Amino acid sequence: MSNRFIPVAAPELSGNERKYVLDCLDTNWISSAGKYVEAFETSFAEFCGAKYATACCNGTVSLHLALLALGIGPGDEVIMPTLTFVATANTVKYCGAEPVFVDSEPDTWNLDPAKIEEKITSRTRAIIPVHLYGHPADMDAVMAIAQRHDLFVVEDAAEAHGAEFKGKRVGALGDIGIFSFYGNKVITTGEGGMVVTNNPSLIEKARQLKAQGQDPKRRYWFTTIGYNYRMTNLMAALGLAQLEQVDAHLEHRLKIARWYREALKGSDITWQVEKDWAHHSYWMFTALLEDDLAEHRDAIITNMAESGIETRPAFYPMHMMPPYFDENANYPVAEKISRTGISLPTWSGVSEADVQRIAETLLQSIEKVRANPAAHATAQL
Ligand SMILES: *Cc1c(COP(=O)(O)O)cnc(C)c1O
Repeated sequence: MSNRFIPVAAPELSGNERKYVLDCLDTNWISSAGKYVEAFETSFAEFCGAKYATACCNGTVSLHLALLALGIGPGDEVIMPTLTFVATANTVKYCGAEPVFVDSEPDTWNLDPAKIEEKITSRTRAIIPVHLYGHPADMDAVMAIAQRHDLFVVEDAAEAHGAEFKGKRVGALGDIGIFSFYGNKVITTGEGGMVVTNNPSLIEKARQLKAQGQDPKRRYWFTTIGYNYRMTNLMAALGLAQLEQVDAHLEHRLKIARWYREALKGSDITWQVEKDWAHHSYWMFTALLEDDLAEHRDAIITNMAESGIETRPAFYPMHMMPPYFDENANYPVAEKISRTGISLPTWSGVSEADVQRIAETLLQSIEKVRANPAAHATAQL
């Protein structure tokens, strides 16, 4: 078996990336004005079926802008899954509002709609469904709750470019949504993000806030306190080239997931279920170990790294970490996924032979710790 190092994620830059970036250099348009920004925004809006899109310097600030555009502020509460990347909670805090957590569904790992309503108070203003690892959240259920209680819905689609809920691409299914183009995401601009919506007044607010709050009709006249959250033409050049190849990237990810399922079939390993109404974008194929392996999960990760295979632990739930710690919290599903989840290499350069090597190495690593559990136990949170 080859010992070639396989990263858990890596960008694929084999299209027009180089050509478009060099065009920016050759024409001297390297800052946030330039033709690629608008072209990328237009193509991306079309890609996810949104009327409007505005490009930003990363996914985190895109989420901040989306919340600000909705007027989320001090005293407000925003409901979100506890199992997400930390940016979802942090951006609510940036607005002076409070994140309120919900446990995950055991099959999709997304926020459990049945557990949302018990968290709604008179201060609740919005729900943020996160399409975790590329599997869409149950948007019909979320939207119905939002309508019943007059709440906004902000999709965190940072991990879900091209994922579909009942045949519709995610991003603009709620009031407003965001994507990330960080280096390990499905398409990348290095760092980068996008706000998408069908609502013209929300996009206008997001655009104004990302450019210092300047009045769009009067230069150097600022009507509100804004930010500098713009994307550069260089980043957008990368993004446009990435978007040209996105269908191939997504198709390859589906194949990788299928290969993993075949290679792990018959073992004790399970994985995030793909609902029949969902089209998963497989940002990260994430496997779940049996619960008795929880304390060995990190040793298994180390073991695989020694064989040249990079993997990563599932996210820690927000309520377990210092900024959001809640000792009375009870989110058993999210905690279980966090304890035993391992994300396996999922990107365009991963071949079927790679998947076989990764699966074999994973199963061998599990046998190794099972044979000698005392040597491999690590402290658990
Ligand atoms: C990556 C990610 C973000 C933030 O995106 P950045 O571009 O890294 O700032 C937000 N939410 C989720 C769920 C993410 O995975």
